[in-house]
Amino acid sequence: MKSDTQPVSIREARNRILAEIGDGVTLVAASKRQPEDRIEKALEAGQLVFGENRVQEAQQRWTDRLSRDAGLELRLIGPLQTNKAEDAVQLFHVIETLDREKLLRALVKAIEKTGVAPPDLLIQVNTGDEPQKGGVSVDGLADLVAATRETYPGKLVGLMCIPPAGEPAAPHFALLKKLADEHKLARVSMGMSGDYALAARLGATHVRIGTAFFGARDA
Ligand SMILES: *Cc1c(COP(=O)(O)O)cnc(C)c1O
Repeated sequence: MKSDTQPVSIREARNRILAEIGDGVTLVAASKRQPEDRIEKALEAGQLVFGENRVQEAQQRWTDRLSRDAGLELRLIGPLQTNKAEDAVQLFHVIETLDREKLLRALVKAIEKTGVAPPDLLIQVNTGDEPQKGGVSVDGLADLVAATRETYPGKLVGLMCIPPAGEPAAPHFALLKKLADEHKLARVSMGMSGDYALAARLGATHVRIGTAFFGARDA
């Protein structure tokens, strides 16, 4: 018998999350600052979709694994600087954090230069209008969608948000889903460890989960 104090395994946590979010929603394992043994456990449990916040950390962790396992999908969920665009388009299958035209231009150039298949893009929307947070403003979204559709050689597939900490997330999730519908974007990335079930109910297609999946992160 398993005692109540034993932490749940990554496999158990994953199964519980998958049951909660249902079939139509993809679990993105947010693996930033997680130890290697937990990444291995996640892979053993069948997890194939991972989100990373930093290009360099992701390169170190995933370059070899990507060359061995064609089923992996790597998603950039953290802010991207233009000088990392070339590395990012070569590593990630999906970039969730496009938020400005300057970055769009850098991505287009990086794809031309490297010749890689263009990653799918999501635009990050700063639904809470927080000055310190990445994401295009709600007012600026239409222009960025138009510019992306005009100039990006790959696909714009959806929107992503990180609601302000300490505020109810539901209005932000509802707003992001509404904006995605208005712009005919099928993918909606929202919901983290504390609120993924709510996000799934409000239309998320992708939830990004770190601690509820892996356990607490390294400092
Ligand atoms: C860290 C992170 C997550 C996961 O956060 P948890 O609260 O650990 O689930 C999701 N999205 C982004 C953008 C993150 O940086």
